[in-house]
Amino acid sequence: LRQGIEQPALDNFITAAAVDTIIRKKPHLTLIHLVDMDNHRHHYGVRSQQAIDALDRLDKHVGELVAAAKEAGIYADTNFMILGDHYQLNVDKMIHLNMIFADRGWLKSTRNGRVNRHWRVIAKHADGAAYIYVRDSSLVDEVRQAIKPVKGVKTVFEHAEIAEFGADTNATFMVEAADRYFFTDETDRPNVVENVTNAMLEAGEPDRYKGTHGYHPWHNDYTTTAIFAGPDIIVDQVLDLDVDLTDEGPTMAKLLDLEFDTPVDGHVMAAIFKD
Ligand SMILES: [Zn+2]
Repeated sequence: LRQGIEQPALDNFITAAAVDTIIRKKPHLTLIHLVDMDNHRHHYGVRSQQAIDALDRLDKHVGELVAAAKEAGIYADTNFMILGDHYQLNVDKMIHLNMIFADRGWLKSTRNGRVNRHWRVIAKHADGAAYIYVRDSSLVDEVRQAIKPVKGVKTVFEHAEIAEFGADTNATFMVEAADRYFFTDETDRPNVVENVTNAMLEAGEPDRYKGTHGYHPWHNDYTTTAIFAGPDIIVDQVLDLDVDLTDEGPTMAKLLDLEFDTPVDGHVMAAIFKD
């Protein structure tokens, strides 16, 4: 079934493997990650026809998993959770912050376009945001001055804010991209800010997108999906709940009648449960 990581073949394979496992092994917990729609949103845009077609394929896979639970005889005891880990925003411009740091002599690029390990300042991207690590503390103010005016850098978060977010406290700064922009780690490009062209996308160049994620979770219209069904779940309700991804673990634990020995992030989504 598989053709490397090509979609939709990869999700067809993942679903077939899960269906086979559910029928033959009846596991207490099955977690599967289908990435077809994420992939097509990256390549064609958030609301593209290709992404909508991928959503239809996801729906079909959910149907196959439900049918597998019925065939295994465990459907009446099975709770289903359909979760997104993020939404996406449409983009058309890249920001290559490491080019600035190379230009100032704070890092050197290697022959294959990566960063030599003896860097003093480096950006590590998560598309919509990036961490900035400054090894040489005498450079902190200069780095802040260098990144603040870059077009497409919306916010520079200071170290204290990073700790509040629960993000990597080894980072000196965290930057968030403005709408339509995203970050890369690349050092060897024509300009610090560069348009994503159709030619790049058609050539299949890595990290070239029409949509992506990694922005601050507080960004407007940037929420994701949570659908629940099963014997322990209330029926046919749309809830306007303020929940986080970190609430998913405790909620799964409650569905499995498990308790954590140590404190964890997040809370049980109590409103989804019957009585
Ligand atoms: Zn993605």
